[in-house]
Amino acid sequence: MKRTGKPKKAPPARLIFRRLARAYPDATCALHHQNAFELLCATILSAQCTDARVNLVTPALFARYPMPQALAAASQSDVEEIIKSTGFFRNKARSLVGMAQALVAEHGGEVPHSMAALQALPGVGRKTANVILGNAYGINEGITVDTHVARLGKRLGLTRRDDPVKIELDLIPLFPRKDWALLSHLLIFHGRQVCLARKPKCGECVLDDVCPSARLFT
Ligand code: SF4
Repeated sequence: MKRTGKPKKAPPARLIFRRLARAYPDATCALHHQNAFELLCATILSAQCTDARVNLVTPALFARYPMPQALAAASQSDVEEIIKSTGFFRNKARSLVGMAQALVAEHGGEVPHSMAALQALPGVGRKTANVILGNAYGINEGITVDTHVARLGKRLGLTRRDDPVKIELDLIPLFPRKDWALLSHLLIFHGRQVCLARKPKCGECVLDDVCPSARLFT
């Protein structure tokens, strides 16, 4: 049933976090990886592609190019062949090889630990840099805003903006820094399982009683 009357205010951020953390105790990065280099490759591949699809492709990629040095020397067409099913494969292959070349030439083959250095790598924007810092290095420099985080941020009344960087700026003051990486995982898990893009399952949602958008979509 559609709710009527005055819209509810955004619930307190700590309440959202606490309830989602209880609902998804295993929330974590869904991209399979063993180290920062593998996570960087997987995150570049995840643009416009599901994590499940990326996870099907990365075992062959990592087996063939286990280190930045190997990927830096790869032919783009060989990389394209392996990653084809993730979509936009020409651009992604170019980014992967270029990123590996930059790691070798400028960072001694290591994935850098700073936002600025990460964002200077080919194919790496703020979102990817946040994923690497938060998940490979445990550095909460910002909040990863993907399509799920953006949608849930709006539905929960935490932001009204569309631009991911502006959404991140709205979310940052609401949550303690130590929680930023986990917050993204929680919102992504909830967005995949309950607060679906087209038809959110508000009746099954742990935030149903406090969400300003509850039942607006049914
Ligand atoms: S109540 Fe509905 S719209 Fe709000 S977070 Fe839950 S599923 Fe999403």
